[in-house]
Amino acid sequence: MFEVVIGLEVHVQLNTKTKLFCSCATSFDEEPNSNTCPTCLALPGALPVVNKEAVIKAMRLGYAINATVNKVSNFDRKSYFYPDSPMAYQITQLYKAIVKDGELFIKNSKGEKKRVTIYQAHLEADAGKSMHEGNISKVDLNRAGTPLLEIVSGPDMRSADEAVEYLKKLHSLVRYLDISDANMQEGSFRCDVNVSIRPNGQKEYGTRVEIKNINSFRFVKQAIDYEVERQIEAYEDGVYEDEVWQETRLFDSDKCETKSMRGKEDSADYRYFPDPDLRPLVVTDEMIAEAKKIPELPDAKVERYVNELKIKEVDALIITADKELANYFEEIISADVTPKNAVTWLTSELLGRLNKSGIEITDSPVEAKTLATLIARIEDGTVSGKGAKDVLDYLMQNSSDVDSVIEELGLKQVSDDGAILEIIDTIIAANDDKVAEYKSGKDKLFGFFVGQVMKASKGSANPQKVNELLKQRLS
Ligand code: ADP
Ligand code: MG
Ligand code: ZN
Repeated sequence: MFEVVIGLEVHVQLNTKTKLFCSCATSFDEEPNSNTCPTCLALPGALPVVNKEAVIKAMRLGYAINATVNKVSNFDRKSYFYPDSPMAYQITQLYKAIVKDGELFIKNSKGEKKRVTIYQAHLEADAGKSMHEGNISKVDLNRAGTPLLEIVSGPDMRSADEAVEYLKKLHSLVRYLDISDANMQEGSFRCDVNVSIRPNGQKEYGTRVEIKNINSFRFVKQAIDYEVERQIEAYEDGVYEDEVWQETRLFDSDKCETKSMRGKEDSADYRYFPDPDLRPLVVTDEMIAEAKKIPELPDAKVERYVNELKIKEVDALIITADKELANYFEEIISADVTPKNAVTWLTSELLGRLNKSGIEITDSPVEAKTLATLIARIEDGTVSGKGAKDVLDYLMQNSSDVDSVIEELGLKQVSDDGAILEIIDTIIAANDDKVAEYKSGKDKLFGFFVGQVMKASKGSANPQKVNELLKQRLS
């Protein structure tokens, strides 16, 4: 049997207004090469100046993962030529990164808490984009110089599921910290996956293969599954040394397989050296204070939801995984409805409907305030749970307010004691015989009376009230 070993390098695009070393905008859908200047075009004589906002955002991540945030760090040049990288090197941090030795906690497959080491998180500049059309290749440098934070984990994950858990946790974290929109389709959160295997009991790690630039959780899992199988097969066929070597592979999501791209360079190949254009990066106390402004994070929220709101941990985990969802939930709760009902109506009812239509919570046609009102109307007996589902269906399609919809759909429950008692008395009067039987001990007849009252009210009587009042009258 084999053990799988996985380490992840995640590139997070920081959501700063301007690039890492110049004042060009970081906006994307612009005319190609319009967001450029002598610095990000690498024209001779142009000098980089580091973006304070990017540094603070990197530091904020550092504090959130209990890392050491270095007061002094350095920028280095990683030399390589690529048409979309006009400097012929990338400015990054190799020897002394701004964030060192952090940690992130995930749940492993057994549901136990597991610590993942984060070696470091360093700032670096993104490259531009090459576009290939037939025989022509074009280069757009709008993205060149955009700030990235590369977050490097230790080789601590032991399965594809753990790797995905870690990524989801990190994804959620950078969104909570508001340091990145982490949009995976647009490439603001992409990851390189390092995978190796070793026979159970072996101390040394096996040879690792790096799979580059995967931009969905599902692809990460598929790529790892494929790669693990390939490596195990090679081992069992006695050709591990020949077929598994330190290289960079690409994941082909159509074929669901990884294939060789190039041999993995050793860091010597990149001729790293300190960037002579950039002085050491020294952070000020003011920057530290700014970076330490950290909102309540998912782990703390889960604890608070479970302990104070008495919500089940599974539910708390679902709600807090997404910052927007947690915000939505907290807005419902602030309207004084019971947390348990808020959970049900948010996760089963609203999310169920949104998922079906492929709508994000942020674009929900039903706002938190509205859902809170609906829940309040269930709790005060104005509408039944069943009726409320119809109201929600209606509100998914039409904008209106809860009370008008309840009225319009004729779903208002009669909760008024007088009105219900009137019906009860008519039913009791018309069923002397049954009343006598009930009083002589035939308890089962209670259901009959409830049914009759509900029927007479055409389903509009509040069933709880009917139960209560019937018990009174029949006792
Ligand atoms: P390099 O300097 O060559 O990029 P690092 O030591 O920085 O190598 O590691 C890069 C990534 O590869 C890290 O995320 C690390 O956890 C992971 N890694 C290192 N060794 C292994 C291994 N044997 N199996 C899986 N992942 C590994
Ligand atoms: Mg590396
Ligand atoms: Zn620029």
